[in-house]
Amino acid sequence: MALSSYELERIADDMYKDRVITGWAYCGNCGYNLHSLPYIYTCPECGNQYNARPLKMKGIFVLHDTYFPASDIAATLLCAPVVYLLITGGVNPTEYGQLILGAAMGVIMLTFAHKACRQLPRFFKARSIARRIALEEKEE
Ligand SMILES: [Zn+2]
Repeated sequence: MALSSYELERIADDMYKDRVITGWAYCGNCGYNLHSLPYIYTCPECGNQYNARPLKMKGIFVLHDTYFPASDIAATLLCAPVVYLLITGGVNPTEYGQLILGAAMGVIMLTFAHKACRQLPRFFKARSIARRIALEEKEE
């Protein structure tokens, strides 16, 4: 009988439930140092539930969230004037092909804008957490 992925997750969580974090891990919400706390617990500072088990890492600060979405913002800004010209009929108002192309470009632009808007708050939060971690490491 094969185990479902849910059962495997539960078993893996069970194996780690009594262990404490021996390495360095930080709360993904406030940057609190979770060293010597249980793998699956809540942050004592902000109450964020986390799971620091390997292959799970839920609610834990992850460094790759600190990237600035420059390419998404650039793509949005590059698409915007083309979409504006095509949709407002700046080139030829009776051309339906342009309208369809404009709508397609609009969808692409919104996709990039959506990605940028989702990443920006993560970037600023991750940056403030990284700053806190750096400050606390300096004090030690
Ligand atoms: Zn926290």
